[in-house]
Amino acid sequence: MISVGALYIHVPFCRRKCLYCDFASMPTSADDARLRLYMEQLGHQLEESCNAGLLRECRTAYVGGGTPTLLGADLLGELIARVRRTCPQVRELTFEANPDSLSDEVLAAALGAGATRISIGVQSFCDEELEALGRLHTAEVARRRVRNAVRSGLSVSVDLMCAVPCQTDDSWQRTLDEAVGLGVGHVSVYPLTIEDGTEFGAQYGRHVPAWNDEDVQADRMEQAQRTLIASGFERYEVASYARLGMDCKHNQAYWTGVPYLGLGTGAAGMLLPGQCDAVRKVLTWFPNIDATAARVRYETQSREVEFLGAREAWAEDLMLGMRMSRGVDAQLVPANVLENLEQRGLVRREGGRMVPTHDGWLLGNELYGALWDLA
Ligand code: SF4
Repeated sequence: MISVGALYIHVPFCRRKCLYCDFASMPTSADDARLRLYMEQLGHQLEESCNAGLLRECRTAYVGGGTPTLLGADLLGELIARVRRTCPQVRELTFEANPDSLSDEVLAAALGAGATRISIGVQSFCDEELEALGRLHTAEVARRRVRNAVRSGLSVSVDLMCAVPCQTDDSWQRTLDEAVGLGVGHVSVYPLTIEDGTEFGAQYGRHVPAWNDEDVQADRMEQAQRTLIASGFERYEVASYARLGMDCKHNQAYWTGVPYLGLGTGAAGMLLPGQCDAVRKVLTWFPNIDATAARVRYETQSREVEFLGAREAWAEDLMLGMRMSRGVDAQLVPANVLENLEQRGLVRREGGRMVPTHDGWLLGNELYGALWDLA
């Protein structure tokens, strides 16, 4: 029977757009009637995917956004309960949250409906930085919400952002220390990127402000690594740190070639061609499949579908595998390519595997580009 290993559900609503954000999300209020309509449609898609057998072996589910917590206790609780019903094998069920809408009621509803993990968009514990980013919460609200989430027994992750306006080495250190001190099990760390189509994009254009300089980004990422590793976290992926057993299984499914179904406005999915007939039944926009493809990737927002051949799928696996500290089986990489990457200091061999070096992660585009060239 055909099945995917992971499910992603996209909730494309936020109370207000952050100044740097180019994600698929629209500003709306919590009482907008479209929220319920959208959830009803998602519910139908979930049921149909379930009836087609696609979700039988689904192990991880992720409700992302946007801001899923903007749905409120009832709608979010219903959605999570529905995921539980349609995906009986799910072991890890994450929902994304923003501190301003993560009320006690929302937290309790998600937990009661069967969520196991929460990813909170904290970004910073410094009020000046939060304001400069256009975030809706204060540092104190973030602290309270994270503390409550940790107490609730959920596995808690926080997103933190470096190379942002007003940030200094000291303020970044305080943010990192606060996250550790609050007892979270997982931290994702990203440098801010200035994207076209955002407020920051319009404000700065091609000019890179000093606070976002490449060297600043690299230094702050290193600072995060030093602090988090010294505090007992492992850096298991270029942007992800976890305490023992708290790594995100869902994201690892993406990086290890596990087929996943994406539902909702701005979702992406990856399927194997044999699965596409079942998928076509439930996603009416899905086009005719290329029977020779080794892998099918789609994005619901752009309606883009990409068919990857065997070589491309292999190159993609290598590229994604190198995001993780465990890298890939060295035997999968042609010897001349491995030697070249080794000489450039981007990878090293470790117990039969090719793993990224610190420079390999820092110069990720070089490393991933070289592997993608194999396609
Ligand atoms: S909360 Fe997240 S998705 Fe929403 S606007 Fe801000 S960065 Fe974008």
